[in-house]
Amino acid sequence: MAVSQKSLLASVPTQLFIGGEWRDSLSAQTFPVHDPATGGVLTEVADATIADGTLALDAAVAAQQDWATTPPRERGEILRRAFELITERADEFALLMTLEMGKPVAEARGEVAYGAEFFRWFSEEAVRIHGRYAVNPAGGSRLLTMNKPVGPAFMITPWNFPLAMGTRKIGPAIAAGCTMVMKPASETPLTMLALAALLTEAGLPDGVLNVITTSDTASVSEPIIRDPRLRKLTFTGSTAVGKLLVEQSAEQLLRVSMELGGNAPFLVFDDADVDAAVEGAMLAKMRNIGEACTSANRFLVHESVAEEFAAALARRMGALTVGKGTKAGVEVGPLITDKARDGVHELVTDAVDRGARVLTGGEKVAGRGHFYAPTVLTEVPADARLLREEIFGPVAPVTTFADEDEAVRLANDTEYGLVAYAYTRDLGRVIRVSEALEFGMVGVNTGIVSNAAAPFGGVKHSGFGREGGFEGIHEYLETTYVSLNP
Ligand code: NAD
Repeated sequence: MAVSQKSLLASVPTQLFIGGEWRDSLSAQTFPVHDPATGGVLTEVADATIADGTLALDAAVAAQQDWATTPPRERGEILRRAFELITERADEFALLMTLEMGKPVAEARGEVAYGAEFFRWFSEEAVRIHGRYAVNPAGGSRLLTMNKPVGPAFMITPWNFPLAMGTRKIGPAIAAGCTMVMKPASETPLTMLALAALLTEAGLPDGVLNVITTSDTASVSEPIIRDPRLRKLTFTGSTAVGKLLVEQSAEQLLRVSMELGGNAPFLVFDDADVDAAVEGAMLAKMRNIGEACTSANRFLVHESVAEEFAAALARRMGALTVGKGTKAGVEVGPLITDKARDGVHELVTDAVDRGARVLTGGEKVAGRGHFYAPTVLTEVPADARLLREEIFGPVAPVTTFADEDEAVRLANDTEYGLVAYAYTRDLGRVIRVSEALEFGMVGVNTGIVSNAAAPFGGVKHSGFGREGGFEGIHEYLETTYVSLNP
């Protein structure tokens, strides 16, 4: 690693970023950022007050008009430069994420590449914003549409992908010509602060991106969401908080995007390549220590291959190296907090109490940090809580189905609808199942679906709106229709 932990932490800003200036909270208070692998404090960051939040929105509002009229090519080039700078500094960003979030450095590098890709994708989309021209079907007038930036946006992101969950919002907002106030998760503010500094270096004008960090998100966010000058709210996080924010956003009838929780089914049909399915399952389950909204939460396997699949998965999961993400060879880092680990263990205990069998894991790893042993459970009864709730940890419950209809019925039997995975070699089945699954995304013979060029998002309690793809920029654009009488 080219950079030491100490010099990296010393280089990351820890203040609020408002109107192009770094400054302390008006209260002068700070709050600690922890290393989940040790429980130790990495550094302290500014603890924004409600008044700081208002100042950040003031700055975004003041910058909006000029930013909206900046040539699209200029906005695209800022994003392109930022993409290149992130790529150059991939090691630093990866280490920073490992320190504050815990994921192994190799995985953090994967997130840097994935996160940076949103800037490259939207640098190319910035110059492809256009409307339509049509002749009135009845003749006479002409019908024109034009796309305009929706206006100042408030962005709230979670701790599990500190970079990518930010770039997925900031990229399209910059491309569309929106200014913004960004509030990263209080567990992982450092990556976002480093990104704000990088965007300034890439030429982003003052006030376009404002970053506030706070230990009291609920109090600081609500006045921003209720402020009539705000035009857009975009949130990635839990369904419970998402619902609360939708309620708050009703007052100003804000444009809203919600990327919420998931309960992904992972279907393995009897015609699947079981080895490939196990490989895909490792990715879909273990990426990000299982702390991803896209994590496979329920393995639904045809009864003829379930035993083979579960045994192979348990062998692979049991052989993973658990430890500090900065250590070479480590494949599974700590969970974000002790509370999160307690929650995962509670779900496992509940399943076992109801009759599930532990093939591997099933326990906390002793010692410092919040580590949990990769776990595979079989014979999981239908009423086990972990089939209903997001596990958010390295735990794979395996259950069975008898035929395609039952597989789809079980897969859809959840309030969530973010992503589903299916392993099958039958093309007809791929189409039938993809049509029948009530999910925003379907991975067929793959354990990873995320891609900057594709529309990421869910249905039902997983939210609404799409990030990435051609769709992503439309979350930040309004349509004006002009009826023109020539
Ligand atoms: P969370 O909802 O607790 O927090 C998310 C963000 O909301 C954080 O910045 C937090 O500080 C803020 N927040 C918390 N309470 C708030 C309040 N009352 N008002 C305003 N903001 C508030 O979620 P988390 O634990 O950080 O993240 C995990 C969740 O995020 C999981 O449910 C996961 O599935 C979901 N997630 C979804 C996606 C997606 O794209 N669909 C991606 C990643 C994570």
